[in-house]
Formats: sequence, C-alpha cells, structure tokens
Amino acid sequence: MVDLSTPLAKVVAPGSAGPLAKNRDVHTVGDFLEFLPRRYVQPGELTDLGELAEGDEVVVVARVRQVTTRPLPSRPRQRMLTAVITDGRTDVEVTFFNARGHEHRLVQGVHGLFAGTVKAFRGTWQLTHPDYQLFAEEESQEAVNRYTGRLVPIYLPAGRSMPPWKVRTVGEVVLDSLESLPDHLPAEVRERRGLPGLREMYEHLHRPENLPQVEHARHRLRYDEAFTVQAVLAQRRLANEDLRTTPRRARPGGLLEAFDAKLPFELTDGQRAVSETIAADLAQSHPMHRLLQGEVGSGKTVVALRAMLSVIDSGGQAALLAPTEVLAAQHHRSMTAMLGDLAEGGLLGGSDLGTRVTLLTGSQSTAARRKALLEAASGEAGIVVGTHALIQEHVSFFDLGLVVVDEQHRFGVEQRDALRSKGNQPPHVLVMTATPIPRTVAMTVFGDMETSTLTELPRGRSPIASHVVPGTNPRWVQRTWQRVAEEARKGHQAYVVCPRIGDAAETGAPMVDDDGEALDLSDLGEGAAARELHSVHTVAAELEDEPALEGLTVGVLHGRLAPEDKDAVMRDFAAGTIDVLVSTTVIEVGVDVPNATVMVVMDAERFGVSQLHQLRGRVGRGSAPGLCLLMTESESEVALERLAAVAETTDGFSLARLDLTQRREGDVLGARQSGSRGGLRHLSLLRDEDLILQAREDALALVTDDPQLERHPLLRQRIAAALDEEQAAYLERG
Ligand code: ADP
Ligand code: MG
Repeated sequence: MVDLSTPLAKVVAPGSAGPLAKNRDVHTVGDFLEFLPRRYVQPGELTDLGELAEGDEVVVVARVRQVTTRPLPSRPRQRMLTAVITDGRTDVEVTFFNARGHEHRLVQGVHGLFAGTVKAFRGTWQLTHPDYQLFAEEESQEAVNRYTGRLVPIYLPAGRSMPPWKVRTVGEVVLDSLESLPDHLPAEVRERRGLPGLREMYEHLHRPENLPQVEHARHRLRYDEAFTVQAVLAQRRLANEDLRTTPRRARPGGLLEAFDAKLPFELTDGQRAVSETIAADLAQSHPMHRLLQGEVGSGKTVVALRAMLSVIDSGGQAALLAPTEVLAAQHHRSMTAMLGDLAEGGLLGGSDLGTRVTLLTGSQSTAARRKALLEAASGEAGIVVGTHALIQEHVSFFDLGLVVVDEQHRFGVEQRDALRSKGNQPPHVLVMTATPIPRTVAMTVFGDMETSTLTELPRGRSPIASHVVPGTNPRWVQRTWQRVAEEARKGHQAYVVCPRIGDAAETGAPMVDDDGEALDLSDLGEGAAARELHSVHTVAAELEDEPALEGLTVGVLHGRLAPEDKDAVMRDFAAGTIDVLVSTTVIEVGVDVPNATVMVVMDAERFGVSQLHQLRGRVGRGSAPGLCLLMTESESEVALERLAAVAETTDGFSLARLDLTQRREGDVLGARQSGSRGGLRHLSLLRDEDLILQAREDALALVTDDPQLERHPLLRQRIAAALDEEQAAYLERG
C-alpha cells in the first residue's frame, strides 16, 4: 500500500523520481504531495493569441503548422527545433534548443495544448521550451475537452529533464496510486469547520477541477498549519500549569508597601489593574507566564518593579533581562533611583527593608563582574539587571523567583527558556514589549502566554507630532535644524537618528544596524542603493558646523562605542550636558530622557514602521510636547506612503498591522521575534485571523481532552515532526 512515507521511486519511474529528489528535495509520496503547483491555468479560458503581451503566461490549443530543425551555430552537433504553431489566426514560434525528444512528436499537423511564457522577438511571438501535451487525432476533441474542462496545475520544473508537464504526470501517477490516507485531523473538527479530508485536499491541490476546489484545499492547508502551532501552544500552556513553583506574595509592611508609599505619582488605572493580575499570578503555585504590552512610556517598568518587590518580599530574587547594554544600564540606574534608600540594603544608612540592585553585563570589568556574580549567588541582590550575559551558564542565583524580560522582540523562546532554567524551581516569567503585537501574532508567537495590555499613558504625557521632511530640499533641512535649535534654547534636547555608524572601518561593508542586522534594501525605489546614507559620524560633524546649532553640544552614541563610553554619553545626555545626541538605533528601546522633545530621523525610509514608532517614543516623555521629523530623500511612492502613515497616526496597533503587511511572515516569526517556530508556509497572520481563532479553539479543546494526544497518534507525530524541524532550524542558526 502506498502512503505518505512511500519512496517516490517505488511509485514512478527512476527518470522522474531522480530529478525530483536531486533538484527539489522530494523523496517520498508525502514530499511530492507537499510540492505544490505554483499556479493553475484555466484552459477553459484559453489565451487569446490575438491579445498577447510580452511576458504573458499562455495556454493555448494550437496546431503545428511548420517545423524546421537546424544545427546550433555554437554546437554543430546539436540541432535546434523551431515550430510554428497557430490557433488559426495568430502564429507563435516555439523553440527547443535541443530537438531531441521533440522532433518526432512535434511534426506538422499535430495539435495539442501548449503552455509557457511568451516573448516578442523580431516581430513574432515566441515560446521557448513550452510545456506541451499533444492530442492523438482521434481523441483530440475529447482530449481538448478533458484539458479545457480541468485546471492545469503548473509546477516548478525539477531540472532540465523534468519540465512542469512531466511533474504534472508524476502528480497523476502519485494520486492514482493513493487509495485513502489516514487523516491526522479528527473527523469532528473537519466537519465542524467544513474542511476537506487529507486525500481530498491533495486531490484538489494537484488535480483540481476548478479554482474553488483549490481554495478549499488551501484553506485546509492553512488550517492545518494553524492547528499544529496551536496544539503545541496548548500543550505548553497545560504543561506550564502542571509545573510547581513557590507562590510569591508581598509582605504586609514589606518592601512593596514601602515603595508604594514613596512613589512620586499615582499609578494609572491600567497599571493598577495589571499589577493586581500579576500579583494574583505570582501567588499561584504554578509559574506565571505573562506578556505585558504597552506603548512606549505607558509605565511598564513600574509595574514590573512592583512585581519584583513582591517577590523580594517573599524572600526571592528577580532578574531583569534587557536587550542592550545601554538599556540594562539605564534600568539599573532608574530602578536604583526609584528605590532610593530601599536599594541600599546592607549599607549604612540604607533602609532596614532594603535590597540591592545589581548590574551584570558582558563587558564589565572582571572585578565588577565577580562582585555582581557573588551578589546574585548569595541572594544579596534582590534584583539583578543584565543583558544576554545573564543567561550564561555560570550565573547562578540564590533563589530566582521572577524573570522579567524587557522588550521581548529581541529575545527568542530558547533564551527565555534558558533563563527560566536558572531557578531552583521554574521562576515566574513576565515579558514586556512596547511593540504592539497584533492579536494573531500574539496568539501564534506568544500563544503560550497570557497577555495584559496597558492602554493608557500616564497623565501629563504630551502628544507627539510627526512630519515627513524632504531631505532634498535645503530650505526644509535648514528649518529642521532651526527647530532643533529652538527646542534646545528652551532647555530641551534632541535626538538625531542615523541608519549607520560610518567610521572608516565601515566603508564597503554591507549596511547594517547596531545589531548587525542587514538593512532591508527592498522597496526603496530607484537609486536608493546608490545613495550615500547619513552616518552618525558625518552628521555629527556637519551639525558641529551648523550655524543654527552654534553653541550647542553635540554627542555621539552607537553600538561600537566601548560600554563605559556609551554609559557616559547616556549619563551626559540624561543630565542635559549634551544638547543634541546623534546616534544609531541603540536608542530605539526604552531609553528614557523626559527632557528630550525633538527627534530627527535621517533616511527615515530605511527604518521599519514599528521601529519608527518605537524610536519616536523617545520624545514627548515629559510634559513638553514631542516632535518627530522623518527626513527622507527617497522618491519611492511606497516608502513615502509608509512614512506618511507613521506621521499620521500614533496608534501603535494600527502601525503594527501595517508593518505586518509589509513584511514576509518569516520575518515576523523568524529568529528575531520568536526564537523559532518559523516556517509558516501557508498561513498569513494578517489574513487568517478567523481561521487562527478557530484552530486555537479546536486545538485547546482537543489537547485539554487528551493532553498527550494518545488518541490522536497521527497528530502527535505531526507535531513531533514540526518541533524537530524547529529544533533543527534553531541548531542550524547556532
Ligand atoms: P515604558 O517602559 O512602558 O516605556 P516606563 O515605565 O519607562 O515606560 O515609564 C515612562 C516614564 O513614565 C518613567 O519616567 C516613569 O517613571 C513614568 N511613569 C510611570 N508611571 C507613571 C504614572 N502612573 N504617572 C506618571 N508617571 C509615570
Ligand atoms: Mg521600558
């Protein structure tokens, strides 16, 4: 019996199986069934040869009017075949560079179905190496009907010897050899959602009668993908509920109370509500696994700090993981400041209740690092703030009760897991993100977590106005620097963000941002790649000489500065001794200088929508209104529209959706965002929201009923295979 694991070579001739294995990695019947046609042509609507345009895909029933062969000038032993085919009115020249295999079939008078891409050449239409299927004269009408009645699936070729039509023949053989296929999707789910069975799905993908069948089959493909992901997530959630950990509660008269008493502002209603939810989570005996979303400046850090303090109250420690050293240092600084004498535990003059906030980063001096490691291990530090260095093996904690991950999108699932493994028992986990995450992404990428959202900004926060500035217009550019100067003269400060650093070492290197990620050069329009991008160094030098900025101090910040220099620059900027900070996107996340009111983004088209939104969140954090000037020299309509959208709205969620439409799914789910769980091939997180909701509901019901999927072995296998692939992909990335 033939099933999905049957080698293809057992079903079709070696001449077909070989090239498919070699060129398309298709080895089994199952592989072939997943090797989907690129598209389908509707021969019922045969191309009208009278209306051809260069590059059209044509499918035509035509008769061979004339055939000639002649030696190829470059290879005298090889003959080339040219046939003129006609639909009776228009002629098309068909060319095969090697006549062999064709000259006995393509003879004058035969007719058949031809498919390919037309080109105009010296006033005639040409089809080079088209697919064709000839009709025997006696059955020709029937054959035409057969083909014109059905869609013709067009596959990618599998090398020279396997043109699309041959692959199609393989498809016919494979389908004919399959009797039935056991289906991994339970029948009741299929019925509830009106999905075709597996066998039917493949039939409709490879041998459809009409496009609605193809659509129906594709719907099931997408559903399957969503269902597999959601089943994994449901299992993760259930498994999490089975884990045991220490409940953590704030102590009456403890650190949290003392902190609340000295908080200089009122918590917003949102902060209060989320804090209560988190407190309830922490009091459970299974670990919290929560995602906290909130616009930049919505006050997530205070919420996290309060959670940390309740853990410390109960005798545990908390770790805060930040994506960059700048941010880690800033968190360390601001938490220490907010806690005041409460952060001076064990020091003379410190509060009795006090604890310690320790910073641990990769680039610390050995002595500082040793001290930090010791404080983490001894439990002296209630809060350990750090970067990736925190997840290294030799960092140990006395009793890690809570892990807070700031700005999630830079961390992967695996990194989260590694940190969780640091506790004696699994710690509670709170993940914070300022990038608004569309619901479907949250459900897919973070589907194993509960989510909370801070929707309001603290009172007194000022609106940010954004404008697109044409960088090619000297008057506008001049005006931009004047605006910066005006703000500075009012005692405020400005950011100028550039897409690259630009020191000597960089010339000729690919354009990368601070994380070493290549900038996306697509969509930028003509000439974009050739244009010299503004760099931190050149812009800083220009601003030093800019008359409008006379007397103002210009500072420079980027990822290649030594950590202590970065730190010093940030400190100077926070203290107001630097008026204009020219930097790369190191300031993208979390940097908090309330006195900064203007941001100028150079070559703004180089940044993603969400990234720009994130960036401008750095201004308008204080009581003065913020201004963001998106400077661009691009003339690409796509780019300008995108910038206009950013300028028009400050609604992070609608921008996140826009961002999603402009990226491939792989980027959304790729290493950067999810750690892994990539490889959604059919599902669109934007288009398929309803379907994802359905799959989530179905998967949760199924997994709750049968957590180990003992009654669904095929589904279990499928999930295991998907996870293996994910694991393999992760290992490959290193
Ligand atoms: P996020 O991390 O969400 O971007 P932060 O927690 O850094 O935001 O908060 C931004 C600023 O707002 C900080 O200076 C913080 O002290 C202040 N802040 C937080 N909550 C409030 C509040 N309820 N009222 C006034 N200011 C607040
Ligand atoms: Mg923050």
